[in-house]
Amino acid sequence: MSAIGIDIGGTKSYAVRLEGEAIAEESRVEHGSRVSTVEAIGDAVRRVANGSETVIGVGIAGLVSVPDRRFVWGPHVRGTDLPVGNDIEERFGLPTYVDNDANTALHAELTTGAAQGYRNVVMVTLGTGIGGAIAIDGSIYRGSGFAGEWGHTKVPESTLLCDCGKRGCWETVASGPALERLAREVIAANPNSSLAVALEGADDVTGASVVAAADRGEETARSLVAEVGRAFGLGLADLAAIMDPDLIVVGGGLGSVGESLLGPARRSFADALHGASYRVPPAIQVAQLGAAAGAVGAAMYAAGGGEDGS
Ligand SMILES: [Zn+2]
Repeated sequence: MSAIGIDIGGTKSYAVRLEGEAIAEESRVEHGSRVSTVEAIGDAVRRVANGSETVIGVGIAGLVSVPDRRFVWGPHVRGTDLPVGNDIEERFGLPTYVDNDANTALHAELTTGAAQGYRNVVMVTLGTGIGGAIAIDGSIYRGSGFAGEWGHTKVPESTLLCDCGKRGCWETVASGPALERLAREVIAANPNSSLAVALEGADDVTGASVVAAADRGEETARSLVAEVGRAFGLGLADLAAIMDPDLIVVGGGLGSVGESLLGPARRSFADALHGASYRVPPAIQVAQLGAAAGAVGAAMYAAGGGEDGS
């Protein structure tokens, strides 16, 4: 059985075609911010379709109403209250499943990735913002519909304006744009600094490029990545205090960067964890399916009729 899975964010989409649980085809595309969300999804489907597919799954960064397959709203994705399920189903004539992209990513990690064998899992996706998902006793927990939006919990050390329109959200200090902002501040204050040289001026600074500079050993980049990593770890300690999961899975574009960010995060997490000396802390692992997790899980959900594994 062949299933198409799409993970769509504000400017990028990731598409896969699964044969069983194996990726037969994948495609990653920058669609920019001018294309409508449904057009971008349709284009992503066409990039991996070969005529053998029988279902389509879509994971979207933001608030998604799973029962009526609508994208409700998200700070990074175009449009509000979009009937994505109906539109895509009509366009391609295939049953279409729609969910939040972190939920689909966690579904994939539970089925074939880092969370296999775990029952109580917290997923944190780290990239343009911070997304999240929860598994309780092996099934995705959605609350009244939108659970797991860790990125917009408030942290006392920030008063920065978030893309969601509110101030002080965790993702303002612990995501790709947070790293980009810190690097731009350093470069603006000192255009001849070693960081400015390493990043070749300020034109193309992104969270990922700062992490890459840190991995090459550039000292200022390393300290900025460590600062964001520490803020990330503090938030993870809050999640562990609330959820007490067996495992925390870190996914998303920056989650795959590894220890330059996760090392400082692990240390601040260990320092901040409630009752750390008296408990077994949850393991913190990188998503095994990497950047493909959201798309793979969307395809798996579509193939399995939206059911979680057991
Ligand atoms: Zn926010």
